Amino acid sequence: MSTREPRKAIVAGAGIGGLTAAATLRKIGLEVEIYERAKELKHAGGALSLMSNGVLALRSVGVEPNFAKYSDTLSELSFRTTSGKIIKTLKFRGITEELGAPTYGMRRGDLQRLLLDEIGDTRIELNSKAAGFEADDDGVRLHLEDGRTVHGDLLIGADGIDSAVRRQLVGPETARDAGYLCWLATPVYSDPERVPAGYAAHYWGDGARFGIANIGFGRVYWWGTKNMSPEAVHAYRGGRDDVLRTFAGWAPEVVAMIKGTPEEEIIVVRAQDRPFLEHWGRGRVTLLGDAAHPILTALGQGAALAMEDAAVLAHHLAGATDVPAALRAYENERGPRIRELIRRARTMSKLEQSEGRLGVAFRNTYFRLLPDWAIERYNRSVMSFSLEQPRVPS
Ligand SMILES: Cc1cc2nc3c(=O)[nH]c(=O)nc-3n(C[C@H](O)[C@H](O)[C@H](O)COP(=O)(O)OP(=O)(O)OC[C@H]3O[C@@H](n4cnc5c(N)ncnc54)[C@H](O)[C@@H]3O)c2cc1C
Repeated sequence: MSTREPRKAIVAGAGIGGLTAAATLRKIGLEVEIYERAKELKHAGGALSLMSNGVLALRSVGVEPNFAKYSDTLSELSFRTTSGKIIKTLKFRGITEELGAPTYGMRRGDLQRLLLDEIGDTRIELNSKAAGFEADDDGVRLHLEDGRTVHGDLLIGADGIDSAVRRQLVGPETARDAGYLCWLATPVYSDPERVPAGYAAHYWGDGARFGIANIGFGRVYWWGTKNMSPEAVHAYRGGRDDVLRTFAGWAPEVVAMIKGTPEEEIIVVRAQDRPFLEHWGRGRVTLLGDAAHPILTALGQGAALAMEDAAVLAHHLAGATDVPAALRAYENERGPRIRELIRRARTMSKLEQSEGRLGVAFRNTYFRLLPDWAIERYNRSVMSFSLEQPRVPS
């Protein structure tokens, strides 16, 4: 067995997870090479919430992108009826001040830009689809679909929900459909009265919901969902008119936002996750982000969890000479939190997508009666980040 410190990490996938891993691993002195199947690093559409825990995780390894350059902070999240009446409000500001890191809403492309700045001259090979790997005591070989093979001391599969690295590690699997479809967009939109700075809200209907985050710089991030069978989601071809039909009669800002979005800017995605995976690595190979644990969007945590992974991985690899042991320690540290958040996101998602008069009445009453302290405690635990044993000076 090799007992030298690793020098080079191979990363499959240049999504938020792969880029973040490159940033944290470079911080601890590793050389990183990223292999991405896409032909260009498109500034992928849509936006996301970047919760405080992601910011704190990166900070723990000294990675501090200037998020405020592209994003306003979100100050509170309200849950509302379709007409906009408040059911419950969660004050982010109190929690984020206590945690010492804001929560942002930002366009994916902007986050990607910030991470690219962080990783400087890291080699990113595009049009390079990972097909499989071999690993032994001395290193890993990643085989690319075009016949090339690249070498490193460890391999990180950050290749998303349909990860090829995962497939080789655990065999064929089927993703779990959540029973609804998502539309999303980030149009230019301004309505300071109804959608002021820092505004974030979820409007809850009957088997449908609509989310808004004012991400600043004259844009909003909106997303809508509608319950549908997996077959209907698969066959779905609807456009903006269908979104308008789904949310007709909802709060004026909801309808105005959809009307104000060019049809070609509306992205359609299926809501999917996977059950928690007990073992997501072997030898010198591990997984990170959606490849390891795709999670439903109800908690807005996918990107932040990928950042947590990248930070914890760096803490375990810093100064390590036994790479497989460091990777297993990383996976073990991540396991309990990931398992719990996949479960919570599923539960929350089911509640939010409630349908039928009784289902809707139960959900709304339940949340209305939920004490503020309970909802704050729940969210504080989701939005916090802690390390078992920090190994990188921040
Ligand atoms: C509708 C929707 C809304 C969301 N909203 C939020 C939110 O508000 N907040 C939040 O935190 N998260 C959100 N998420 C989740 C978040 O986008 C992901 O969890 C996060 O981007 C994880 O990134 P990743 O890098 O692991 O995976 P991905 O972003 O999927 O990146 C994987 C990368 O790997 C590449 N790749 C795939 N296969 C291969 C291969 N074989 N070889 C090489 N490269 C490959 C892909 O091209 C891609 O670039 C949302 C997700 C969805 C679907």
